[in-house]
Amino acid sequence: MKKKILFIISDTGGGHRSAANAVISALSTTGAEVTCEMVDLLKASGLPGIQNAPELYAFFSSGHIWLHNFLFRLSNTSWFMDTASRLLYGFARNRIRKVIDSFGPDLVVVIHPLAVRPMCTYRDEFGSPWPVVTIVTDLISVHASWLSPCADLYLLSTPESVAIAKQHGVLAPKIKMTGFPVHPRFYSLQPDREIARKQLEIDSNRFTLLLTSGGAGGGQVEVLVSELERECPQCTLLVVTGRNQFLFRKLTEHRSASAHTHVYGFIDNMEQLMAACDAVITKAGPGTIMEAAAQRRPLILTGAVGLQEEGNIRFVIDSGIGVHCPSPSAVSKQVHSLMNGSFHSNLPMVFPVAGTHAIADQLLSIMAAKEDLHGTS
Ligand code: UDP
Repeated sequence: MKKKILFIISDTGGGHRSAANAVISALSTTGAEVTCEMVDLLKASGLPGIQNAPELYAFFSSGHIWLHNFLFRLSNTSWFMDTASRLLYGFARNRIRKVIDSFGPDLVVVIHPLAVRPMCTYRDEFGSPWPVVTIVTDLISVHASWLSPCADLYLLSTPESVAIAKQHGVLAPKIKMTGFPVHPRFYSLQPDREIARKQLEIDSNRFTLLLTSGGAGGGQVEVLVSELERECPQCTLLVVTGRNQFLFRKLTEHRSASAHTHVYGFIDNMEQLMAACDAVITKAGPGTIMEAAAQRRPLILTGAVGLQEEGNIRFVIDSGIGVHCPSPSAVSKQVHSLMNGSFHSNLPMVFPVAGTHAIADQLLSIMAAKEDLHGTS
């Protein structure tokens, strides 16, 4: 019988959904008989405030980072998260039951920090047989909300995240360092710059920059576009505004853009835009970082949108896959040195490797182990 895997995410940014899609794609190539379903549990919770988490995240990341960081610090202990989650669970329990009953999973994979504890509490209260596996999509600055000893398995990307998991009481046998869930389309084929440019109908011969800022499109994109158009007029800009419709309108309707600036809203062909570009300019989102690394495109990080991304800047610098340019003028200077060839050729041969297939294998193994234990099929 086909096994059912329920992926719990939320569209706070774009990284959680991208990670789930990556793993689902890897599972589909294993030949295993599985059906996958994805649910935005925060939206499904129906709780005021919590159900609006995607909009709140967009609000935080566009100019209200201080508030986000205040809440991050305040809540970054196991004690706080245990208490807050117990409270939330009381309100969300019936909605969780609806989600579980309608799908009947054999395995629950949590890819959002706020869903880890509620799903474990539900499993324990109802004696559900399905394991809870957590895939952590933060690389370095992992918040306490992700980490609870009650999950059955943790799939992590870096030694730093493993150390933090242990500090929060997750036992070593429950931890596997698999690597990050990058969608296979970012690494299964060698990206061809020329073909991608033709497909996108952009000039093949110009130095091309991809400017992106996560699913919510927060941060200083507009200022960067102006800076790059002024200081690097010989470049083509591919600007992705994600779900930020306000930014999209501002960039397309209220200004006279250069003929070589192409503005996109939320796209589902990021791998094609990355293939077309010579460098990726982005906030320090883990998903975008690891996708660019998989495609061997140098990264220019403009900053961290929230404390949970702070550690990613050091990660990128230490891995040798990019630089940090905290001001628009530093970004344009870096673009000039890229065009001169000084940074490009320095990309290391060994990149942070995608862990997508290793993650898929772990999910299949834990389901097989459960089946052996219960002797069911
Ligand atoms: N993304 C996308 N379309 C867009 C903008 C972003 O598919 O228009 C994807 C991007 O490829 C990456 C994810 O959204 O997989 C963003 O994840 P990241 O961790 O960089 O930032 P977040 O949005 O989670 O803050």
